[in-house]
Amino acid sequence: MMLPKYKRVLLKLSGESLQAKGSNDPFDPKIIEQYARDIKGITELGVQVAVVVGGGNIYRGMNEADSGIERAHGDYMGMLATMINGMAMQAMLEKIGVYTRLQSAIQMEQVAEPYIRRRAIRHLEKGRVVIFAAGTGNPYFTTDTAGSLRAVEIKADIILKGTRVDGIYTADPEKDPTATRYEKISYQECISNNLKVMDMTAFTLCMENNLPIIVFDMNKPGNLQSVIEGSGVGTLVS
Ligand code: UDP
Repeated sequence: MMLPKYKRVLLKLSGESLQAKGSNDPFDPKIIEQYARDIKGITELGVQVAVVVGGGNIYRGMNEADSGIERAHGDYMGMLATMINGMAMQAMLEKIGVYTRLQSAIQMEQVAEPYIRRRAIRHLEKGRVVIFAAGTGNPYFTTDTAGSLRAVEIKADIILKGTRVDGIYTADPEKDPTATRYEKISYQECISNNLKVMDMTAFTLCMENNLPIIVFDMNKPGNLQSVIEGSGVGTLVS
């Protein structure tokens, strides 16, 4: 068995990643179960895992012009959507025998603990998977920013951005067949080449705090463990 390269990680999952491609259902239980099993696998290697889930499969508050809903109001709706995803992820993890805690950046004491940084760290030290829901608790931000912020706060070694593509490419691989994947890339190169790894706020937070990012395909079972073992899966930004 390989030794894990990272001791404490923050896994960022987009809301859409919980959804089957092309489906209108917000969740695909098979996908959530696969994610839960992969997360379980790395906790068994002794890795401390925190998870931030997005909400895009249910609601995004960004587009005031289309929705007619004031931006800040819609953003709070989006944050509540992340809570639903966090609860789904928690249910699946617990079902397969993983101890979890769900912490919310918006008070919802019947279903989640409030976000308390030191308590989150304590849970991680005890081997519990901590799910951070409701983003940063503030409108005008994204869950990528929540992921970067929480990762920095809990002193994670790395942020793992689980997506449906296997890394960062020179161009959009679906449009350009000559596009190639970067194995490693610097923060600065991402900015100069206009590669959108995360939104700028989230990305800057990582860069300023020297928090490395790995973008990888979370939908391939076992890939998360390969990332943890440092096997070159995905793209490392540092
Ligand atoms: N959101 C917010 N503040 C945050 C995090 C999220 O206002 O700190 C809102 C925002 O409206 C966003 C929605 O929640 O569109 C869902 O989050 P996001 O779009 O980041 O989800 P993902 O794309 O990862 O599924």
